[in-house]
Amino acid sequence: MSAEKTIDRLPAVPKPGRWIMPGLGLIQGLVISGKNAIQSYYKKDRMTTIQYPEQRAVISPNFRNFPFLCYDDDAATGLRCTACSICENECPPQCIYIVLDRDENGKSLKRPKVFDIDISVCMNCGICAEVCPFDSIYMDGEYEMSTDDRFGGLMLGLDRLAKSAEYHMKLRPEEASAVMAKRKAEEEKKAAAAAAKAAKAKADLEAKAKAAAEAKAAEEAQAATEEKGESA
Ligand code: SF4
Ligand code: SF4
Repeated sequence: MSAEKTIDRLPAVPKPGRWIMPGLGLIQGLVISGKNAIQSYYKKDRMTTIQYPEQRAVISPNFRNFPFLCYDDDAATGLRCTACSICENECPPQCIYIVLDRDENGKSLKRPKVFDIDISVCMNCGICAEVCPFDSIYMDGEYEMSTDDRFGGLMLGLDRLAKSAEYHMKLRPEEASAVMAKRKAEEEKKAAAAAAKAAKAKADLEAKAKAAAEAKAAEEAQAATEEKGESA
C-alpha cells in the first residue's frame, strides 16, 4: 500500500481548540482496522500485512539502523575513514572503538587498524554520520541482525562495517550522489592545485637555471674582457 493511500484514509486532524469526543480517535482507528480486515478479502491494497520473511516490505530511504563505513573501489585500500576519531569522541553512548593503523616507524597511515561498533549499545542516533568530515560513515538500512551470540555477534568490526560506495548509492541514491559530486569537485580542485604547484615549481626551476646561465655567461664575458686587457 502506498504512503499516500494510507494518509488518505486517516481521519482529518481536528482544528486546535475544537472539542473532541473522548475516545473518537480509538473508534476511528477501529473503523479503519475493520475496513482493512473485511476489504482485504477482495481488495489487494487493503492488505496491510505481508508474509514476512517470504515477502519483504520496501524500506523507506529515510529508515536508518546502525552505521556502516563507506569505501571506494576496494575494501582493503579504499576505506574513506582516516581514523580521526571524531565519531568515536562524539558518540553519546561511546560504543565506537578505533585504533589508528601505523607503519613500522610509528607514522600514521591515516586509516583504522581496528574499527568496532557495539550495536548492542548503539542507539541509532546518527551523530557519527553527521560529524564525520571524510564522508566515511553513514546509517545503514539493514535490519535483519538478530543473533544468539550476545557479544561477538553484536560487535561489528571492519569486516562487517565496510560497505562499498555502490551499496550507499543503492541504499540512498540522493545522499550518495551528492556526496560523490562533492568528492569529485574536491578531487578536481586538489588536482588543479597540484598541477598549479607543479607548474610553479617548474617555472621557478627554469628561472633559476636561466639566472645561473646568465650569471655564468656574464662571468665568462668579464673574464674574456680582463684577459683582453692584460694582453693589450
Ligand atoms: S548511531 Fe549514535 S550511538 Fe550509534 S555509533 Fe553512531 S553516534 Fe554512536
Ligand atoms: S568514520 Fe569519519 S569521523 Fe569516524 S574516525 Fe573515520 S573519518 Fe573520522
